[in-house]
Amino acid sequence: MPKWISPCRLSPIASRAGRINVPLSVVWFKRDLRTTDHAPLMNAITQCVQNGDELLLVYLFEPEMLAHPTTSSRHLCFQWQAIQGLNQRLVSQGLSLKIHPLQASAADVFKWLHSQHQLQFLFSHEETGLRYTYERDLNVKNWCARNDVVWNETPQLGVIRGLQNRKRWSYRWHANMRKPPIKVDFNPWLKAGLLPCIPEWPSPWKMTAPPKPTHEHDVLGKGPFQMGGEEQAQQLLTSFIKDGRIENYQKHISKPEESRQSCSRLSPYLAWGQLSMRQVFQALEACESKTMAHRAFGSRLRWHCHFIQKFESEHRIETENMNRGFDDMTVVTNGDNLLRWMNGDTGIPFIDACMRCVRETGYLNFRMRAMLVSFLTHHMGHSWKDGVNHLARCFLDFEPGIHFCQFQMQAGVTGINTLRIYNPVKQGLDHDPDGLFIRKWVPSLQEVPLAFVHEPWRMPPLELAMQGGDTRSVAPMIDIKATARQARSRLWTFKNHPAVRAEAQRILNVHVDTRYQRRRRP
Ligand SMILES: Cc1cc2nc3c(=O)[nH]c(=O)nc-3n(C[C@H](O)[C@H](O)[C@H](O)COP(=O)(O)OP(=O)(O)OC[C@H]3O[C@@H](n4cnc5c(N)ncnc54)[C@H](O)[C@@H]3O)c2cc1C
Repeated sequence: MPKWISPCRLSPIASRAGRINVPLSVVWFKRDLRTTDHAPLMNAITQCVQNGDELLLVYLFEPEMLAHPTTSSRHLCFQWQAIQGLNQRLVSQGLSLKIHPLQASAADVFKWLHSQHQLQFLFSHEETGLRYTYERDLNVKNWCARNDVVWNETPQLGVIRGLQNRKRWSYRWHANMRKPPIKVDFNPWLKAGLLPCIPEWPSPWKMTAPPKPTHEHDVLGKGPFQMGGEEQAQQLLTSFIKDGRIENYQKHISKPEESRQSCSRLSPYLAWGQLSMRQVFQALEACESKTMAHRAFGSRLRWHCHFIQKFESEHRIETENMNRGFDDMTVVTNGDNLLRWMNGDTGIPFIDACMRCVRETGYLNFRMRAMLVSFLTHHMGHSWKDGVNHLARCFLDFEPGIHFCQFQMQAGVTGINTLRIYNPVKQGLDHDPDGLFIRKWVPSLQEVPLAFVHEPWRMPPLELAMQGGDTRSVAPMIDIKATARQARSRLWTFKNHPAVRAEAQRILNVHVDTRYQRRRRP
């Protein structure tokens, strides 16, 4: 018998209304909308089969989620699509189960289920999320303890709660990834003739379409967006590893257009848990050829969990500098410039093309993301905090653990990473030499000769006049070279500050494996 099953609960119990009710087991889907390699789902089925419990599957679009400044419609649609896909799959397997999407808070739903349906067991994955999910989970935990509800939380793959340092983390990660995936088998549940719970939900909680964010900063885009769903995730994985999209992985990884095809594009499915990291890892391991591309891709799978582990261990970095030594660094606040950056209207073609592309489609490769952050924080001199929510809303694959860590790394406020100030003109020339990506996303430059497409401000007056423009219409928002110089001196002065160095050592001790620390003294 699994250890969470308490023998005293093995018999039906009387409900508050005096009816004889069977206890209820609930699977609370979070960032894990899949039915394969899903321990909480398997545990719930086992519990129901052994105990005769009713089973209920829920996904909650909570008010805090809808109000959070990192949330955008594209995230909500992606999750909604996954729920629809999973429900179709459950029906096709002859199951009367479905995932109930509800627009309500966890506290309200679980209280209601406890009073109306004898909620006894709650199954979910641990979540390394934002502050509101952390506080919500603490409340749910306390509520469960007070109400004698057993909450069985399974660790997320590759992330260890309560970890003090990174000793043997990589070893443990690999061991975890090599374990057989959890086989979710509904047959015992079907054979036992068990019933799903079909609650008559309060009307305001019921949903027929994906919800909208309740804040005012939603980022709308025409798409096409990747479509949410476990099936879509599996198909993409197959096309990348088995059907050979991986071949050009390294060649195209930094190309803004080609990376859309040659990178795996698995990030939204991994971020929202529609595919487990173990499934991707094992698909890669099963592959016979082991090229540089395979190895490079494999490392990134580990990075994914490495960053989430950082966030799990130090989640204050959602709002604070990872290295507190940078707290006194002066930052610029220029609302007009910030808006121009957010809208892709800086006058620097490659920056604008990248921003417009990610706003419209939800995807940008790693280097281009890093360049947008570098431009905001180094050239424009803004705090990373001014742009972190905007890009979270733009990225379909928003994953708090990776996003906040990467943002701070690129902003240069960790004190342990190499400082990179990307020159957006050079990046454009290197990765979009024919200006095709720029012309696609900045149509006003479509007729501009290639010689000037990366730096239209260099166009001679005659050429400009032929394009129907003038010097003002092509002036960049800021001088790239001068602002890069200022940023370099600002950051280097700080990097050598004793407070920054002390913090850097602390960060290394907590977040970096001792084997690598020797190579990375601050
Ligand atoms: C400022 C900034 C913010 C970012 N925010 C996110 C985010 O919110 N969510 C997110 O998934 N990635 C984020 N990344 C990392 C990276 O850009 C994306 O994971 C990657 O571009 C996704 O494309 P892909 O799935 O085709 O990646 P692939 O290159 O095919 O890599 C496979 C998987 O490895 C992981 N991965 C790849 N690169 C990284 C990396 N540098 N760090 C951590 N994991 C990585 C992702 O899960 C990815 O799906 C961010 C990077 C930067 C610079």
